[in-house]
Amino acid sequence: MRFVRKLFSWKPILAISCLAGVLYGQAATSGSVTCGAISVPTSRMPVSGPNFSSYCIPCIAALRTYAREPVIDTLVAGFAQLENSRPKVKFLYGEIGFPDGGRFRPHRTHREGLSVDLMVPLADRKVMSTSAANRYGYDVDFTDKGTNEQGQVDFAALADLIVSLKKQAQIRGGDIRRIFFAPDLQPLLKKYQTEQLSGIRFNKKQSWVRHDDHIHVDFEFGCPG
Ligand SMILES: [Zn+2]
Repeated sequence: MRFVRKLFSWKPILAISCLAGVLYGQAATSGSVTCGAISVPTSRMPVSGPNFSSYCIPCIAALRTYAREPVIDTLVAGFAQLENSRPKVKFLYGEIGFPDGGRFRPHRTHREGLSVDLMVPLADRKVMSTSAANRYGYDVDFTDKGTNEQGQVDFAALADLIVSLKKQAQIRGGDIRRIFFAPDLQPLLKKYQTEQLSGIRFNKKQSWVRHDDHIHVDFEFGCPG
C-alpha cells in the first residue's frame, strides 16, 4: 500500500466524501444504480451485527457502504451463517460503494453496487485494528505467511466466509463473479475449502494494490425485467 500512499492521500478524499454525505442528507438510507435499461435500489450495510462490524464509522457517514439490495442481503446472511460454525471470529467489512453508484475514489471498481471489500479475519479472537492512522485497515501489511504485529490471518475462516457468501448469493439468484486477493496468499487460503474455492475466479496477477489486508469481491446479480 506504500505505492498508493504516494499517489494520493485518503484524508482529503474522506473529508470531501463526508461533506458530500452531509449535503446529500444523512437520512439517506437507499439510492439506486443503473442495471441494464432500468434502475435498481441500493441499501446500506448495517453498521454491525452479532459477528461483524464496520471498518470505519466516518466512512459510513460518508455514504461509502451501499450496494444493490441482494448484495447487502447476501453479506448479512453470509455472516449470519458463520455465527455458529465460527463463533470466535469477528469479521470486518470495508469499502462498498455510494448509494447511487458511480466513481468511488480511490478504487477503480465499486461503481455498480456489486463490489465489496472484506477485511481479512484474524485468528485467536483478534480483530484487525482500523483507524485513520492506518487508513481504516487499507495500510495494514501482511507477510507472505499472512502475519504481522497484529496477528495471523485466519485463512480457514476466510475460506468459510467466501463459501458462505457464494451460497447466499446463489440463494438470491446471483453468484460471486470474481475475487481479488494477494496472489502469494492465495495458496494459504485455498488449503481450506479447496474444492469449493477452485470453482471461484481469483486474480492471477497482483492488482493495482496488494490485496493482503482485504479481499475484494465482485458479485453478479442479473437485472430484473
Ligand atoms: Zn475493492
